[in-house]
Amino acid sequence: MLYDALIIGKGPAGLSCAVYTIRANLKTLVVGQNKSALLKADRIENYYGFKEPLSGRELLDAGESQCRRLGVEFVEDEVIDIQKEDHFKVICTGAVYEARTVLLATGSPPVKAPIKRLEQFEGKGISYCTTCDGFFYRNKKVGVLGFTDYAVHEAAELIPFTRDVTLYTNGMPLDLTEKSQQMLKSFKVNSSKIKELAGDDVLSGLTFEDGSTESLQGLFVAFGSASSTSFALKLGIAMEGRSIKVNDKMETNIPGLYAAGDCTGIFKQVSVAVGQGALASRQMVEAVRRMKTAVS
Ligand SMILES: Cc1cc2nc3c(=O)[nH]c(=O)nc-3n(C[C@H](O)[C@H](O)[C@H](O)COP(=O)(O)OP(=O)(O)OC[C@H]3O[C@@H](n4cnc5c(N)ncnc54)[C@H](O)[C@@H]3O)c2cc1C
Repeated sequence: MLYDALIIGKGPAGLSCAVYTIRANLKTLVVGQNKSALLKADRIENYYGFKEPLSGRELLDAGESQCRRLGVEFVEDEVIDIQKEDHFKVICTGAVYEARTVLLATGSPPVKAPIKRLEQFEGKGISYCTTCDGFFYRNKKVGVLGFTDYAVHEAAELIPFTRDVTLYTNGMPLDLTEKSQQMLKSFKVNSSKIKELAGDDVLSGLTFEDGSTESLQGLFVAFGSASSTSFALKLGIAMEGRSIKVNDKMETNIPGLYAAGDCTGIFKQVSVAVGQGALASRQMVEAVRRMKTAVS
């Protein structure tokens, strides 16, 4: 199934975009999880059109119901990778979806993994992208920091380069689908809590809180969910700090790929996310119409 518009994220940015793409007759899929920042807001009273305050959850539920009524399809899943060939391939823990255009509406990137000296070794043994840097660690001892499907996916990406891959969960319990659990037999798993990273100029290992140590040449960070920053590194999307760089049409530097809402880092508010989602939809509609005209 080839979707015209695939929207990653079901917060206000993604849902607003979906309202417009479906009403322009684009086959629209929203892939998201119930992790919108808005779920933390008890009381919204600065969003246009409501006489009384309402909770973030009420606003989200109304947006999702509106989209479903209009015919938008929804999948509850985590996107762990995006690839671009002729079309976009959006890889989730449960399935792979293809689309002509993609919107990143994934909200604010998560806080960095809480490990001492992580930033000091960035680019010197610490990497956030197996696709970009896996090759540099051929036949070396490497680790992936994480505990979710995304971390297992990243560990699997390293196997063609080296058989010596360990998943370091930093004391977190594994949170995996059945499929990821099957994949675990290809790596070692270490669930000790990490005290700090070791090394002088470059990363040389890990020190754990129980006093034990392990030598290591590379550590790939995939802590928590895959975020806009992970996708940016893999696809070569231009960033501004930790935000996706967009122009005034919500276009990224990758043709067919758009971003809206908190992941763009522009005034993180519902009204802005909704407006950016609408702006992005307009470009997606035009891009899909151009693609369809070109092949007919
Ligand atoms: C406590 C709090 C109070 C707030 N109060 C207000 C307020 O009063 N007024 C106001 O205007 N704004 C408020 N905000 C800000 C508002 O919530 C955000 O600006 C808004 O939710 C941004 O929308 P978004 O669609 O960009 O991202 P989000 O709403 O955060 O949605 C992101 C979506 O992406 C999904 N996602 C992320 N990564 C993946 C992945 N890898 N795979 C699949 N899905 C993924 C998430 O599950 C979620 O569905 C508040 C925020 C907080 C935290």
